[in-house]
Amino acid sequence: MGRIVLKKVTKSFGETNVIPPLDLEIEDGEFVVFVGPSGCGKSTLLRLIAGLEDVTSGNIEIDGTDATAAPPAKRRLAMVFQSYALYPHMTVRKNIAFPMKMAGMPEDEQKRRIDSAAKALNLTDYLDRRPGQLSGGQRQRVAIGRAIVREPAAFLFDEPLSNLDAALRVGMRLEISELHERLATTMIYVTHDQVEAMTMADKIVVLRAGHIEQVGSPLTLYREPRNLFVAGFIGSPK
Ligand code: ADP
Ligand code: MG
Repeated sequence: MGRIVLKKVTKSFGETNVIPPLDLEIEDGEFVVFVGPSGCGKSTLLRLIAGLEDVTSGNIEIDGTDATAAPPAKRRLAMVFQSYALYPHMTVRKNIAFPMKMAGMPEDEQKRRIDSAAKALNLTDYLDRRPGQLSGGQRQRVAIGRAIVREPAAFLFDEPLSNLDAALRVGMRLEISELHERLATTMIYVTHDQVEAMTMADKIVVLRAGHIEQVGSPLTLYREPRNLFVAGFIGSPK
Protein backbone atom coordinates (compact mmCIF):
# COMPACT_ATOMS: atom_id res chain seq x y z
CA MET A 1 0.00 0.00 0.00
CA GLY A 2 1.16 3.51 -0.75
CA ARG A 3 1.58 3.64 -4.53
CA ILE A 4 0.58 7.07 -5.82
CA VAL A 5 0.29 7.92 -9.50
CA LEU A 6 -0.33 11.40 -10.93
CA LYS A 7 -1.58 11.48 -14.51
CA LYS A 8 -1.51 14.78 -16.41
CA VAL A 9 -2.35 16.66 -13.24
CA THR A 10 -2.76 20.43 -13.61
CA LYS A 11 -3.64 23.16 -11.13
CA SER A 12 -4.66 26.73 -11.79
CA PHE A 13 -5.68 29.40 -9.30
CA GLY A 14 -8.04 31.59 -11.29
CA GLU A 15 -6.24 32.47 -14.51
CA THR A 16 -2.83 31.51 -13.15
CA ASN A 17 -1.55 28.05 -14.01
CA VAL A 18 0.69 26.84 -11.18
CA ILE A 19 1.09 23.18 -12.20
CA PRO A 20 1.25 22.44 -15.94
CA PRO A 21 0.42 18.83 -16.94
CA LEU A 22 2.52 16.71 -14.62
CA ASP A 23 3.05 12.94 -14.55
CA LEU A 24 4.64 11.22 -11.56
CA GLU A 25 4.78 7.70 -10.15
CA ILE A 26 5.59 7.11 -6.50
CA GLU A 27 6.20 3.49 -5.58
CA ASP A 28 4.96 1.74 -2.48
CA GLY A 29 7.36 2.35 0.39
CA GLU A 30 9.44 4.97 -1.39
CA PHE A 31 10.86 8.04 0.35
CA VAL A 32 10.28 10.77 -2.23
CA VAL A 33 11.53 14.32 -1.75
CA PHE A 34 10.12 17.30 -3.66
CA VAL A 35 12.70 20.08 -3.95
CA GLY A 36 12.72 23.38 -5.75
CA PRO A 37 12.84 27.10 -5.10
CA SER A 38 10.21 28.94 -3.13
CA GLY A 39 6.96 29.33 -5.08
CA CYS A 40 7.67 26.47 -7.53
CA GLY A 41 4.58 24.53 -6.46
CA LYS A 42 5.87 22.01 -3.90
CA SER A 43 3.15 22.68 -1.33
CA THR A 44 0.46 22.85 -3.99
CA LEU A 45 1.48 19.46 -5.34
CA LEU A 46 1.42 17.94 -1.87
CA ARG A 47 -1.97 19.48 -1.14
CA LEU A 48 -3.33 18.08 -4.41
CA ILE A 49 -2.14 14.61 -3.42
CA ALA A 50 -3.62 15.03 0.07
CA GLY A 51 -6.92 16.24 -1.40
CA LEU A 52 -6.69 19.60 0.37
CA GLU A 53 -6.88 21.22 -3.09
CA ASP A 54 -8.84 19.97 -6.10
CA VAL A 55 -6.95 19.30 -9.32
CA THR A 56 -7.96 21.50 -12.25
CA SER A 57 -7.57 18.51 -14.57
CA GLY A 58 -5.92 15.11 -14.60
CA ASN A 59 -6.10 12.14 -12.24
CA ILE A 60 -4.59 10.96 -8.98
CA GLU A 61 -4.53 7.22 -8.29
CA ILE A 62 -3.80 5.82 -4.85
CA ASP A 63 -3.14 2.08 -4.68
CA GLY A 64 -4.76 1.50 -8.03
CA THR A 65 -7.95 3.39 -7.23
CA ASP A 66 -8.91 6.72 -8.79
CA ALA A 67 -8.84 9.11 -5.83
CA THR A 68 -9.11 12.33 -7.84
CA ALA A 69 -12.49 13.23 -6.37
CA ALA A 70 -12.00 11.58 -2.96
CA PRO A 71 -12.06 13.85 0.11
CA PRO A 72 -8.88 13.92 2.25
CA ALA A 73 -10.30 11.54 4.88
CA LYS A 74 -10.90 8.86 2.24
CA ARG A 75 -7.36 8.94 0.86
CA ARG A 76 -5.65 7.28 3.84
CA LEU A 77 -2.79 9.78 3.65
CA ALA A 78 -1.46 11.59 6.69
CA MET A 79 -0.24 15.14 6.36
CA VAL A 80 2.32 15.99 9.04
CA PHE A 81 2.17 19.64 9.94
CA GLN A 82 4.79 21.63 11.78
CA SER A 83 5.03 21.19 15.51
CA TYR A 84 3.06 24.32 16.32
CA ALA A 85 -0.09 22.56 15.06
CA LEU A 86 -0.39 20.71 18.40
CA TYR A 87 -3.13 21.58 20.90
CA PRO A 88 -1.32 23.34 23.77
CA HIS A 89 -3.98 22.55 26.40
CA MET A 90 -3.99 18.80 25.72
CA THR A 91 -1.47 16.21 26.91
CA VAL A 92 0.69 14.39 24.39
CA ARG A 93 -1.57 11.34 24.76
CA LYS A 94 -4.67 13.40 23.98
CA ASN A 95 -2.98 15.17 21.08
CA ILE A 96 -2.08 11.82 19.53
CA ALA A 97 -5.51 10.36 20.30
CA PHE A 98 -7.40 13.29 18.81
CA PRO A 99 -7.81 12.06 15.19
CA MET A 100 -8.84 8.58 16.43
CA LYS A 101 -11.33 10.06 18.87
CA MET A 102 -12.82 12.16 16.09
CA ALA A 103 -13.13 9.00 13.99
CA GLY A 104 -14.98 7.27 16.86
CA MET A 105 -12.41 4.51 17.29
CA PRO A 106 -12.88 2.20 20.30
CA GLU A 107 -10.78 3.28 23.31
CA ASP A 108 -8.77 0.05 23.58
CA GLU A 109 -7.74 0.30 19.93
CA GLN A 110 -6.80 3.97 20.49
CA LYS A 111 -4.63 2.92 23.42
CA ARG A 112 -2.93 0.16 21.44
CA ARG A 113 -2.06 2.58 18.65
CA ILE A 114 -0.87 5.34 21.01
CA ASP A 115 1.42 2.91 22.84
CA SER A 116 2.83 1.59 19.60
CA ALA A 117 3.41 5.11 18.17
CA ALA A 118 4.94 6.32 21.44
CA LYS A 119 7.34 3.39 21.38
CA ALA A 120 8.31 3.99 17.75
CA LEU A 121 8.97 7.67 18.51
CA ASN A 122 10.54 7.37 21.99
CA LEU A 123 7.67 9.31 23.54
CA THR A 124 6.56 6.75 26.11
CA ASP A 125 7.82 8.84 29.04
CA TYR A 126 6.22 12.03 27.76
CA LEU A 127 2.61 10.99 27.19
CA ASP A 128 1.24 12.94 30.16
CA ARG A 129 3.08 16.18 29.41
CA ARG A 130 1.69 19.13 27.51
CA PRO A 131 3.39 20.47 24.36
CA GLY A 132 4.74 23.48 26.29
CA GLN A 133 6.78 21.07 28.45
CA LEU A 134 8.50 19.46 25.46
CA SER A 135 11.52 20.35 23.32
CA GLY A 136 11.05 21.33 19.67
CA GLY A 137 12.13 17.88 18.51
CA GLN A 138 9.75 16.14 20.91
CA ARG A 139 6.89 18.34 19.73
CA GLN A 140 7.70 17.40 16.15
CA ARG A 141 7.60 13.73 17.15
CA VAL A 142 4.15 14.20 18.69
CA ALA A 143 2.97 15.70 15.39
CA ILE A 144 4.31 12.61 13.61
CA GLY A 145 2.70 10.37 16.26
CA ARG A 146 -0.65 11.89 15.47
CA ALA A 147 -0.14 10.85 11.85
CA ILE A 148 1.16 7.35 12.63
CA VAL A 149 -1.89 6.29 14.63
CA ARG A 150 -4.03 6.66 11.54
CA GLU A 151 -1.93 3.90 9.95
CA PRO A 152 -1.86 5.76 6.64
CA ALA A 153 -0.83 4.44 3.24
CA ALA A 154 1.57 7.37 2.99
CA PHE A 155 2.90 10.26 5.06
CA LEU A 156 3.07 13.73 3.53
CA PHE A 157 5.50 16.20 5.09
CA ASP A 158 5.60 19.88 4.11
CA GLU A 159 8.89 21.37 5.32
CA PRO A 160 8.33 19.80 8.75
CA LEU A 161 11.67 20.87 10.18
CA SER A 162 11.80 24.48 9.03
CA ASN A 163 10.89 25.78 12.51
CA LEU A 164 13.67 23.86 14.25
CA ASP A 165 17.20 25.05 14.82
CA ALA A 166 20.04 23.55 12.80
CA ALA A 167 21.20 21.01 15.39
CA LEU A 168 17.69 19.71 16.00
CA ARG A 169 17.05 19.48 12.29
CA VAL A 170 19.91 17.03 11.85
CA GLY A 171 18.55 14.81 14.63
CA MET A 172 14.98 14.91 13.32
CA ARG A 173 16.14 14.09 9.80
CA LEU A 174 17.72 10.92 11.15
CA GLU A 175 14.63 10.09 13.17
CA ILE A 176 12.32 10.46 10.19
CA SER A 177 14.65 8.34 8.06
CA GLU A 178 14.72 5.66 10.76
CA LEU A 179 10.95 5.78 11.07
CA HIS A 180 10.70 5.25 7.33
CA GLU A 181 12.89 2.17 7.60
CA ARG A 182 10.86 0.82 10.48
CA LEU A 183 7.40 1.45 9.00
CA ALA A 184 8.31 0.91 5.33
CA THR A 185 5.48 3.30 4.46
CA THR A 186 5.59 5.70 1.52
CA MET A 187 6.74 9.16 2.54
CA ILE A 188 6.57 12.32 0.45
CA TYR A 189 8.70 15.03 1.91
CA VAL A 190 8.79 18.65 0.74
CA THR A 191 11.83 20.76 1.43
CA HIS A 192 13.89 23.53 -0.10
CA ASP A 193 16.93 22.19 1.75
CA GLN A 194 19.30 20.33 -0.57
CA VAL A 195 21.01 18.52 2.28
CA GLU A 196 17.70 17.06 3.47
CA ALA A 197 16.91 15.98 -0.08
CA MET A 198 20.29 14.35 -0.66
CA THR A 199 20.44 12.54 2.68
CA MET A 200 16.84 11.35 3.05
CA ALA A 201 15.48 10.55 -0.40
CA ASP A 202 15.19 7.32 -2.34
CA LYS A 203 13.98 9.52 -5.17
CA ILE A 204 14.23 13.29 -5.63
CA VAL A 205 11.74 15.23 -7.74
CA VAL A 206 13.25 18.57 -8.79
CA LEU A 207 10.51 21.11 -9.47
CA ARG A 208 10.75 24.42 -11.27
CA ALA A 209 7.74 26.63 -11.95
CA GLY A 210 5.38 23.68 -11.39
CA HIS A 211 7.02 21.26 -13.78
CA ILE A 212 9.45 18.43 -13.14
CA GLU A 213 12.98 19.19 -14.26
CA GLN A 214 14.31 15.77 -13.29
CA VAL A 215 13.43 12.72 -11.20
CA GLY A 216 16.09 10.38 -9.90
CA SER A 217 18.06 9.01 -7.00
CA PRO A 218 20.30 11.48 -5.15
CA LEU A 219 23.34 9.86 -6.78
CA THR A 220 21.87 10.10 -10.29
CA LEU A 221 20.99 13.77 -9.87
CA TYR A 222 24.40 14.48 -8.44
CA ARG A 223 26.31 12.63 -11.15
CA GLU A 224 24.06 13.18 -14.13
CA PRO A 225 22.06 16.38 -13.67
CA ARG A 226 20.04 17.00 -16.81
CA ASN A 227 20.73 20.72 -16.88
CA LEU A 228 22.31 23.60 -15.05
CA PHE A 229 19.20 24.26 -12.96
CA VAL A 230 19.32 20.75 -11.48
CA ALA A 231 23.10 20.89 -11.09
CA GLY A 232 22.89 24.26 -9.36
CA PHE A 233 20.11 23.16 -7.11
CA ILE A 234 21.68 19.90 -6.03
CA GLY A 235 25.24 21.15 -6.02
CA SER A 236 25.10 24.48 -4.30
CA PRO A 237 24.68 24.67 -0.55
CA LYS A 238 21.80 26.72 0.76
P1 ADP B 1 6.18 26.28 -2.73
O1 ADP B 1 5.56 25.41 -1.70
O2 ADP B 1 7.08 25.54 -3.68
O3 ADP B 1 6.90 27.46 -2.14
P2 ADP B 1 3.45 26.87 -3.46
O4 ADP B 1 2.90 25.55 -3.90
O5 ADP B 1 3.07 27.35 -2.12
O6 ADP B 1 5.03 26.89 -3.66
O7 ADP B 1 2.98 27.98 -4.50
C1 ADP B 1 3.13 27.82 -5.89
C2 ADP B 1 2.51 29.03 -6.59
O8 ADP B 1 1.11 28.98 -6.44
C3 ADP B 1 2.96 30.36 -6.02
O9 ADP B 1 3.10 31.26 -7.09
C4 ADP B 1 1.81 30.75 -5.12
O10 ADP B 1 1.70 32.15 -5.03
C5 ADP B 1 0.61 30.15 -5.85
N1 ADP B 1 -0.48 29.78 -4.94
C6 ADP B 1 -0.43 28.82 -3.99
N2 ADP B 1 -1.61 28.70 -3.34
C7 ADP B 1 -2.43 29.62 -3.91
C8 ADP B 1 -3.80 30.02 -3.69
N3 ADP B 1 -4.56 29.41 -2.77
N4 ADP B 1 -4.30 31.00 -4.47
C9 ADP B 1 -3.55 31.59 -5.42
N5 ADP B 1 -2.27 31.27 -5.68
C10 ADP B 1 -1.71 30.31 -4.94
MG1 MG C 1 5.59 25.48 0.38
